[in-house]
Amino acid sequence: MNTAAMHAILIENLKQLKLSSMTKNIESELRQARENGISYEEFLLNLSELEIHHRRENGRKRRVKEAMFPLFKPLETFDFTASPQLDRRLVRELATGEYLKEKRNIIFMGKSGTGKTHLATALGIEACTEGHRTRFVTGCGLANELIEAGDKKGLTRMLKRYAGYGLLVVDELGYVPFSKEGGELLFQVLAERHEKRSVIITTNLGFGDWTQVFGDPNLTAALLDRLTHKAHVIHCNWDSYRLKETLKGQARVTHGTNSL
Ligand code: ADP
Ligand code: MG
Repeated sequence: MNTAAMHAILIENLKQLKLSSMTKNIESELRQARENGISYEEFLLNLSELEIHHRRENGRKRRVKEAMFPLFKPLETFDFTASPQLDRRLVRELATGEYLKEKRNIIFMGKSGTGKTHLATALGIEACTEGHRTRFVTGCGLANELIEAGDKKGLTRMLKRYAGYGLLVVDELGYVPFSKEGGELLFQVLAERHEKRSVIITTNLGFGDWTQVFGDPNLTAALLDRLTHKAHVIHCNWDSYRLKETLKGQARVTHGTNSL
């Protein structure tokens, strides 16, 4: 068999094996190997690494899409100088995803505009990169979804889905109180994940105020007990980033007017 025929069959084989990146790159890699006298081992290593890289990137994109983040806010876009009290080292450590292996939760607690959602999203994106199936949902959205799941079968399916994510981000827990049913269903989701899979929560409420949201004091106590067990609780007590940006904008406008 001549070289051209072998090439054609080789490409066909790679296609059949669904090695799309290897198929795409084989010609250029072969050329480079010939030109630079690269060994068989190195050639195959380079080619297989291209495939692995491509698959990892595709998987990451798929997981980020599935997570349904409201905005794409990776950690690189978070300005640590704006929140000096935040333990940078802890955030960087959390970004490695070690907490996911330890099945620990993270609770971002504090007032509005301090970057809680941004940080939760950034850690969610990191989790996607590390290969964890992730879902971002607001507390209210999750409760409504569960209530609307319909019959027992639908609800069981949904509870199973929420138990299955490698990471569940529940944003804005506490902004709106839940109905009795909503609170109980949310409790089921969170209790089911306890010590099995991690949850990230953002909330504007201190733990003492959670009963107002869940209604039932016993249920709230049981929930807090599970959620906070071994959790990283990060208090976001610095000034609102949003407000600071607005004030900066206003200062610019005023300054501009004065200088006219
Ligand atoms: P919270 O959830 O605490 O109310 P957000 O995460 O929604 O706050 O932050 C409000 C806005 O300010 C968002 O657009 C967010 O991206 C931005 N923001 C907050 N903190 C920072 C920061 N340290 N660096 C960059 N952007 C920030
Ligand atoms: Mg928020």
